[in-house]
Amino acid sequence: MADKGLLLVLSGPSGVGKGTVKSAIVENKVFPFEYSVSMTTRKPRPGEVDGKDYFFVSEERFQEAIKNGELLEYNEYVGHHYGTPLGPVKKMLHEGKDVLLEIDVNGAQKVREKMPDGVFIFLTPPDLHTLHLRLEHRGTEPEEVIRGRIKQARNEILEMADYDYAVVNDTVANAVDHIKAIVDAEHVSVKRVIDDYRKMVKED
Ligand code: 5GP
Repeated sequence: MADKGLLLVLSGPSGVGKGTVKSAIVENKVFPFEYSVSMTTRKPRPGEVDGKDYFFVSEERFQEAIKNGELLEYNEYVGHHYGTPLGPVKKMLHEGKDVLLEIDVNGAQKVREKMPDGVFIFLTPPDLHTLHLRLEHRGTEPEEVIRGRIKQARNEILEMADYDYAVVNDTVANAVDHIKAIVDAEHVSVKRVIDDYRKMVKED
């Protein structure tokens, strides 16, 4: 394994609270890692900072990034493009840093194809009723769109089968605790440390 850092991919259905859980991990520095800042063509929301929350770019710039192979994966979501810049992810992993991506299930699937050594964490709602309520409380979409999201979530939840871990987002604190436990365990999993020990026994 050339890369030493862990690629942590946090994904799950729309409205499950990926963004909130990610922010809690980032703000509380729950474990040492670098966050991979995505590129998007959507406009910044109040309080969002360019280069911290996202790289906010034009459609032209996004298309250029696709053409130049700058993106590890990208997807369209409600009329906007989102993508993971490849260069920074590779660099940070080579430096031995853990890298956290927070992306949709479609993007996670593409990352899995290219980087199967990643740790794929699926965030689930406790149940579909809770997901419905959360989408309603967010207040950003009409009921019709919310129904569409729930339908999509039913299909997306089954994609959990391709992931390494399922974390229930009942409370943000619980979800964060479970993710920290996963990261700690992955760091000592034999498949990740065996090469170091092989080297060690050869040297002596
Ligand atoms: P939002 O606009 O609410 O910040 O994000 C909308 C959706 O895009 C969320 O499901 C989020 O996980 C996803 N997303 C954010 N960045 C990326 C990315 O780089 N690639 C993909 N595929 N999805 C992303």
